[in-house]
This record gives sequence, C-alpha cells and structure tokens, in this order.
Amino acid sequence: MKYSSLNYNSKKVGFLDAVIKGLAPDRGLYFPEKIPILDKNFISSIENYSNNEIAFKVIEPFIGNEIPKNILQKIIEETLSFDFPLVKITENISTLELFKGPTLAFKDVGARFMARCLSYGNKIKKHNKITVLVATSGDTGGAVADGFYKVKGIDVIILFPKGKVSKLQELQLTTLNENITAIEIDGTFDQCQDMVKSAFIDPELIDKIKLTSANSINIARWLSQMFYYFIAFKNRPNPTKKLVISVPCGNFGNICAGIISNKMGLPINHFIASTNSNDTVLNYLNSGNYIPKKSIQTISNAMDVGDPSNFIRIQKIFNNDLLKLKKTLSSYSYSDKQTESAIKEIFSYNNYIADPHGAIGFLGIKDYFISQEDPSSLQGIFLETAHPIKFANIVERIINTKIESPSQIKGIRNLKSNKLTMVGYNELKSFLLAKN
Ligand SMILES: *Cc1c(COP(=O)(O)O)cnc(C)c1O
Repeated sequence: MKYSSLNYNSKKVGFLDAVIKGLAPDRGLYFPEKIPILDKNFISSIENYSNNEIAFKVIEPFIGNEIPKNILQKIIEETLSFDFPLVKITENISTLELFKGPTLAFKDVGARFMARCLSYGNKIKKHNKITVLVATSGDTGGAVADGFYKVKGIDVIILFPKGKVSKLQELQLTTLNENITAIEIDGTFDQCQDMVKSAFIDPELIDKIKLTSANSINIARWLSQMFYYFIAFKNRPNPTKKLVISVPCGNFGNICAGIISNKMGLPINHFIASTNSNDTVLNYLNSGNYIPKKSIQTISNAMDVGDPSNFIRIQKIFNNDLLKLKKTLSSYSYSDKQTESAIKEIFSYNNYIADPHGAIGFLGIKDYFISQEDPSSLQGIFLETAHPIKFANIVERIINTKIESPSQIKGIRNLKSNKLTMVGYNELKSFLLAKN
C-alpha cells in the first residue's frame, strides 16, 4: 500500500514513511492509494473473531509487508488491551464505550498504535531521535503522552491552550515528565495547531530535527480508529436492523475512519457527525461551501475545532461529490445548553452517566431518527469518547450525583506537575532548536 499526499505535490510513500513523516512534505495529508475491500465471509462471520483478530484483518492491508505479521499482532495486542463495552441506553439506542484505556479517552487506541508503529519504523529506518510535536484541545495530549511514555528514541512535545482543558486533562499532560514535555500556549487550540503546522514546514527546523505529528493527521492514529466500527458492528444489539453510528466530531478523524470501514465493506447504513457549536461541516453539507471558522469554546472542549483537519480526507473518499457524501453522512450541531439537557435525559435511563461529547452523539442519533420515516428499522449506536469523570465539575452538577473515580486516575492529583509556558511560534522554535 502506498500513500499519496492530498496536495498532490509529494512522492508516494509506504506506511512506515508516512507514519514517520506525519504530514507530507507539501503539507498535504497522506491518503491510501486505494481502499481495500474485505472478504464478505469475514464480515458475515465477524462474531467468530476476537477483537485482536478483527483489528489485524482490518489494518493489515494498509500496512502490507512493512511490519512483519508477528510484530503487528503484538502491536495490536498491546493497543487493544482493554474492553470496549456496548451499553444499551434506550430500546434502539446503545453506546459503545471507548474510554476504558489508560487516559480514559478514545484516543488511547490511536496513540498506542501509533507509538508502537513509530518506534518500530524508527528502529528499521535507523533514525536517531524523533520528536513528536502535537497540539491538543484536551484528550489528544494525555493519550499521546501516555502512549509514548518512555518509548525509546522518541521525545514528545505537547502544546495545549491555556485554561481551555480540564484540570484532570492538564494533570494527565503535565505529570508524566521523562520524555514528555507539556507547553501551555496563551491562545486557542487552533493557534496551537497552527504552531505545529508552522514547525513542520520550517526549513531550519526540519533540517535539524526529525519532527512528526501525533494528531489524527498521522495515518497510524487515524486508521487504527477503524477498529471501533468493526467492534461496534460485531456487538450490535439488533442484527436485523440497519446500523446508524453517531460520532462526536472535532477534527473528524474518528468518523473518517468509520467511513473508510464502511467503504471496505462494513455494513453501516448511515453516519452522523454530531458536533457542538463548531458547525463548519454542517454548514458545508447545507451550503456546499466549506468555510473554516475560528473555534468556539464549549463544554465538549475536545471538539472545539473550527477547521477540522480530516474533513479533506472525507471529501476525498467521495471524490468531492457532495450528493454522494450526503447519502452516507448527516451532521447536527448542539449548544452547551442542549448538551446539558442531554446528559440529564441520558441519566434518566438507568442512571447512565454520559460525558458532554457522548451526550452530543446521543442527540445526533435522536434527531436523525426523527428525520427518518421508519426509525424502528434502525439501530443507533453513539460513540462515548471520554469518561465522564474528565468533566466531573459539569456532569456532577447536572445529574446531582458524584461520579466514581476509575482506577486509572487514582493518585494523579498527588503527582508533580510540570509545564512550560509560551506565547508565539518563535519561542517554540528556539526551544526546539535548543533541545536538540
Ligand atoms: C478528540 C475527541 C473527539 C473528536 O474526535 P475527532 O477524531 O477529532 O473528530 C471527540 N470526543 C473526545 C472526548 C475527544 O477526545
């Protein structure tokens, strides 16, 4: 499998090179040359396969022979080392809990998979040190920090917007230390992301430092998210109904992986991109014009993205045909107020505690069902992308109930927290040059 840049101005590369580079030299996102089609028998007998076997079958065609079979199996085993339970909320809506990993974020899977692929690629290609530079609106940073923690030959630098991530998220970023450096930026997530993008095209930096990204622009992080959709399909509560999956979206990497899964042959009837007030994609679906916006701050902060970087990949899947895209994808946008009432509503069903992101996913399914003539023929699954404890101050107030702390974060408040503070790109650049 080769990957070409969506700016069409760079050489095609194999999987490991694409993982190491992150972004192509022309600043384009890498995209697979073709989307592999899976064996129909595999899909129809998916119940017989373990999650690890499914993941191997799904990702292997994207890697080809670049990672030997036994090593890829080991990488997958270490990546999927926790559960992905499907929990029933209402008669025809369930949630797939993706927050059982070490940082309680769905991004744990992508980060763990990427760290291991990168470490293998670095060894094979005999590079010296690699610096992973990443911007986070909340959950990426923690997952990446944990996924790369103490991985040999890799330094991780994380930029996060001051005051715009939760206390727990900040602790997850700033308490590991070792090969992880957290930098607080006085600005928005989009500004953090712009600084990362500037570093990647700065000739002086790329000459001296081997830089790569760990945002969902990296294909190892992006593609491994396909696993969720296969796991959701395998465990779907009602196999006679058509499956609709609602994804809380920010940079649109997760949902894009879902749509790729569908193109590989996974029977998902419809996708819903559920967003907070950052409604750039909804506006595009309505108007045909993609107009990036400044990000708006909300209580579902991991989705505060005004110019989602992976949307170009979704457009590519449909060859920029808006009508085709709309057959597969709908989008809905919700205010913080609506998000809060959704948390309350979900709690009224068996006391299920949703986080603000998952709650938005729930609302998307409900509205899509209302728009359909025969919703009883549909089974909805929304992805629960973060553990509610990460947003405890908001959620506990709404449901008036204390959320139990999961084992992953017990004791984190006693760890020593370290961060640097920076303002603009030049400061970051000098820091990187001095560090390497
Ligand atoms: C990152 C994140 C999202 C958005 O995922 P994208 O792939 O960027 O669309 C949603 N919810 C949570 C909790 C996240 O951390």
